[in-house]
Amino acid sequence: MNRIYLDNAASTPVLPGVRDFMIRALHEDLGNPSGIHGHGRAQRSKIESARATVASRLKASIGEIFFTSGGTESNNTILRCAQECLDIEHFVSSPTEHPCVINTLKYLQDKRGVKVTWLDVDRQGFPDLDHLKRVLQQSSAKTMVSLMHANNEMGTMIDLYEVGALCGAFGALFHTDTVQTVGHDRFDLESMNISFLSASAHKFHGPKGSGILYCNSDNLVESLLKGGAQERSMRAGTENVVNIAATAMALEHMEDHLEEYKAHVLGLRERLKSGIERIFPDAEFNGDQESRFLYTLLSVGFAPTPMTDMLIPLLDIEGISVSGSSACSSGAEQKSRIIEAIKPNSLQKTIRFSFSHDNTVEEIDQTLSVLERVLEK
Ligand code: PLP
Repeated sequence: MNRIYLDNAASTPVLPGVRDFMIRALHEDLGNPSGIHGHGRAQRSKIESARATVASRLKASIGEIFFTSGGTESNNTILRCAQECLDIEHFVSSPTEHPCVINTLKYLQDKRGVKVTWLDVDRQGFPDLDHLKRVLQQSSAKTMVSLMHANNEMGTMIDLYEVGALCGAFGALFHTDTVQTVGHDRFDLESMNISFLSASAHKFHGPKGSGILYCNSDNLVESLLKGGAQERSMRAGTENVVNIAATAMALEHMEDHLEEYKAHVLGLRERLKSGIERIFPDAEFNGDQESRFLYTLLSVGFAPTPMTDMLIPLLDIEGISVSGSSACSSGAEQKSRIIEAIKPNSLQKTIRFSFSHDNTVEEIDQTLSVLERVLEK
């Protein structure tokens, strides 16, 4: 049985060209990039060429791009090191952020005594920007706003220009978790008021365990890990040269094919959405569906029945991989904290379908017919 993979918000398949490159590169992966000999210099030049690619794709300066082990490390570095190096006393964020942001902010609140304000969110998951404005107006402390670009559970997207301008007007720093959007959207960091940004290669068809950290040159911070002076002292530890080069390669490929892939994926999303509307008229779609949604994701609330409770394992038995809300690190299904924040006490069963350019129309039609059969409509 050919399985259908509709859990791309959790992780995307590595592009075939990137995979082949990685296998070849591992054969030549000799020498430490810090070595002052030919092998070391060859490794270093691969890292610097990857950095130049990422910087040019995100329209940032080369000195503002750093490589990490993923989105979690980038977000931890930004929040914890900015707090320490830039004396941030007040963070403003949203209860719908990824756990690596929420738990880091809770840690800073509990252990370092910083103030954290959680913004109100509406039923579509948008943080209330009037609330943000009021909080920034009233805050005399040095403040950082941390808001994700696209929500990983329901796909709602904020306007980075609007939030950046608001932060700029009140002198607050702005960090955004763009783990779900880098590689699927274009960025022009030179024209955006963003101080810090995080991305993760395995969300845009690159390898797992490879992340990007953008740190605006006005606000450079120190490494979270204490050790050597790698990444110009922003990230200690011997660099994973193969992963770094593969990350840049994947980003380049995704950007080069962005419009083509986006049109295909949007078509799949629309086909699944209209099919679900037709077969299950009482299903609800979570998050904005008009304009500010992540085109790679569709979050559906199915009306509660004994069968919808079993929907993820039932789809799994039929060879279809989806998730409940986000990929859960415990491996067990849990009630979504984010859906709970926007729809308190809802009994609906949330299924997150998330797509990539590898998915086909036939897979969507197959998914619809399985849904119809297993839910016995
Ligand atoms: N931020 C968001 C929005 C995510 O979706 C994820 C991964 O699910 C992360 C951060 C963590 O990224 P990583 O898996 O690279 O640590």
